[in-house]
Amino acid sequence: MASSQQVRSAPAPDAVPDYDVIIIGAGISGLYQLLKLRELGLRARVYEAGTGVGGTWYWNRYPGARFDSESYSYGFSFSQELLDEWDWSEHFSPQPETERYLNFVADKFDLRRDIQFSARVAAARFDAAARAWTVTLESGESATGRFVVTAVGPLSAPTYPRIEGRDSYQGEAYHTGLWPKHKVTFEGKRVGVIGTGATGVQAIQEIAKTAGHLTVFQRRPNWCTPLHNRPIDSAEMREIRKGYPELFERCRETAACFIHTVDPRGTFEVSDEEREAFYEHLYASPGFGIWQGNFRDMLTDRAANALASKFVARKIRERVKDPKVAEMLIPKDHGFGTRRVPQETRYYEVYNQPNVELVSILETPIERITPKGVKTSEREYEFDLLVYATGFDAITGSLDRIDIVGEDGVKLKDKWRSEGLTTFVGVMIEKFPNLFMDVGPHTALGNIPRSIEYNVEWVADLIGHAHKSGHTYVAARPEAVKEWTEFVAMKGEGLLTNEVDSWMTGVNLNVDGKEKRILARYSGTAPEYRAWCDDVAARGYEELRFD
Ligand code: NAP
Repeated sequence: MASSQQVRSAPAPDAVPDYDVIIIGAGISGLYQLLKLRELGLRARVYEAGTGVGGTWYWNRYPGARFDSESYSYGFSFSQELLDEWDWSEHFSPQPETERYLNFVADKFDLRRDIQFSARVAAARFDAAARAWTVTLESGESATGRFVVTAVGPLSAPTYPRIEGRDSYQGEAYHTGLWPKHKVTFEGKRVGVIGTGATGVQAIQEIAKTAGHLTVFQRRPNWCTPLHNRPIDSAEMREIRKGYPELFERCRETAACFIHTVDPRGTFEVSDEEREAFYEHLYASPGFGIWQGNFRDMLTDRAANALASKFVARKIRERVKDPKVAEMLIPKDHGFGTRRVPQETRYYEVYNQPNVELVSILETPIERITPKGVKTSEREYEFDLLVYATGFDAITGSLDRIDIVGEDGVKLKDKWRSEGLTTFVGVMIEKFPNLFMDVGPHTALGNIPRSIEYNVEWVADLIGHAHKSGHTYVAARPEAVKEWTEFVAMKGEGLLTNEVDSWMTGVNLNVDGKEKRILARYSGTAPEYRAWCDDVAARGYEELRFD
């Protein structure tokens, strides 16, 4: 059984694997996948590296972490009972509440009995004769499963900056994505933060409230816009609950599953006054409206994008008192919305505080981390506490960290590195039969739980189909992989987002081999993605080979 402490070889050809399905990860996708597979009567086991459920919302417990999607659009939609029982307390839920929510889900559906915690998967190897995967944990323990579902999330392999001397630093130091469970205080401390992505922005605005002195090391600035969060009282929650069916219907129809939907007008189809009023309205509205609900050409037409960027730049200049600091905070190398837009609450005002200092490491590069702090080309900064908000080896990073070996000894990491990223609907990979990815590369991400629910259900239906028909082998046909990969490329054409370095284009200079942009995501609309996948299922999965 799986509790064996020994590494075992794969089962003999006629042996029954330990589990029908092994799921890697107990975040939003892993939890729901387990539930769906159980409903099919399958024996499923989840291995989770953390000591609790929640994935992203378990690991990212840094100060200020919260949703950037409206809470009620982010929660699971599959259970009316769950929708009835859970009240959100803020329009954009903070991490502790979200972690509580996911624990509530795990308890409500009695999921924990099939989850093994503190169980980081180190390797997964397909045995062609046994038609099963052997999954091995870092502890050496292993188990076999007919099928494997990776539910590892697209942003779950934290990366530290490649800066010399990091280990020499003697103060407190934390990566936001590996934030400790114990309380971290900033009161009176000299704090340094490296990184100003969506995470850094959330952390900085919180840390600045109490830090004795905060130094922010910014490489490339990002375009940030106001979140406009506020509490939800019980009367408002009742209204939200009544509106759930329409809300989820709306999320099904929008391009990226948010409640916001792109405005059908072109930027230059309206008068200057109308355009300005629309930008102002979006800037004053909660959430991602200004990014996801802007004019239809904002992310495809350079001139349209330049106008939106100009508007947000003006807002930054208005909010930051020191003109020099304001200029440092305005991106010059990419247009508004072409990288993930950090959502903020008085982020720009932080730089008006006397205890906060912004250091552009484009102007004065960091030379090394020292025992006392950070040394730039200009001077050494001493800190009591250093925060790395330096992001993730995104999309493929958490898969790369598992030694996944498919048919003919092909290693997944090597395959993608040498041939480029190829998938079938972002779920299957040629040469890796019986392996399915939840929200893997080439899937529609966006408001992620909405994408997850669809993905998980599609994978469960497929596994159910194979199981019911007695098939022990499911593989993507090479021509289907080629077709989907070409479709992803076609959908990425003309998008300004794909012309910019960011995790969304697979670039992470802290990871070897991730210096160049790739088409890591499917950038068509979610409805189109679902239509494609629905069609595959409706035609009996002709694109796959069953045996
Ligand atoms: P990120 O967007 O990749 O930002 C990493 C930051 O670290 C960037 O400012 C980057 O600078 C900087 N950095 C990296 N290596 C560096 C180095 N060697 N020296 C100096 N600076 C360095 O990562 P993130 O902020 O963790 O966000 C990742 C994604 O997580 C977000 O885009 C979002 O999708 C998700 N997220 C979601 C929420 C939410 O929904 N509430 C909150 C937070 C994050 P460069 O830009 O110059 O590379």
